[in-house]
Amino acid sequence: MAKATGKKAAVKKAAAPKKAAAKKAAAVSPKKAAAKKAATPKKVAAPKKVAAPKKVAAKKVAASTPADQKSLLQKLFVDGLKDIYGAEKQLTKALPRLMKAATSDQLKQTFEEHRAVTEQQVGRAEQVFQLLGIKATAKKCEAMDGLTREADNIVAETQKGTMSRDAGLILAAQKIEHYEIASYGGLAQLASTLGLEEAKNLLGQTLQEEKDTDERLTQVAVSSINIESEKEQSPVPVMEEENKDENKQEENQNGQEENKEN
Ligand code: FE
Ligand code: FE
Ligand code: FE
Repeated sequence: MAKATGKKAAVKKAAAPKKAAAKKAAAVSPKKAAAKKAATPKKVAAPKKVAAPKKVAAKKVAASTPADQKSLLQKLFVDGLKDIYGAEKQLTKALPRLMKAATSDQLKQTFEEHRAVTEQQVGRAEQVFQLLGIKATAKKCEAMDGLTREADNIVAETQKGTMSRDAGLILAAQKIEHYEIASYGGLAQLASTLGLEEAKNLLGQTLQEEKDTDERLTQVAVSSINIESEKEQSPVPVMEEENKDENKQEENQNGQEENKEN
């Protein structure tokens, strides 16, 4: 034990100078740090560094006349506007497909009405571009691209002539409306921050239309479609119909292939 203690003591002794050295080093560091700290404000306070960003900003404004380069926030706003403008244009192309695929007249009519409203919204977005003094430019909206593809997938994965298809289409359409609500809500807020009151009002009008459409879709779903759709739980007759169609298609294909061989 005594030997071990001795060893420990030796270790401690040996370690002690290191600690002392460390302390010394530590003692030196704050001084250095203090020296650095003392030096830093002087460097920061140098007028050249402060002046530099102002010069860059001035050049940017001078180099570009469009209003979309006034500030980073305004650039963000314009980019968002281009995105939703693209999204609306993409939607005007998708809505006729969804209308055609819908089963109930009520949903067909809802899609047709919203297609007309969407065209007006395209025009309203163009008005906002005009207010900003920049050319209306559509940017491909990746989200709308995905959302409309999802709607097309619902059509592909559901039976023609069923209320279940309509329930699926409403689900897909409401995802679209919610994307638009988020976009217009955010853009209207940015317009407000930027002091663009007229733009804010125009975006607010479209925002309200999207909210109304979302509400209308909910009404269509709960008034009849979801209830009717639930009755379709027994898929036997529908499946048989579908199989008949598939068999016919296969027969036709086989027939065509046979004809080709001959
Ligand atoms: Fe819209
Ligand atoms: Fe987008
Ligand atoms: Fe919409």
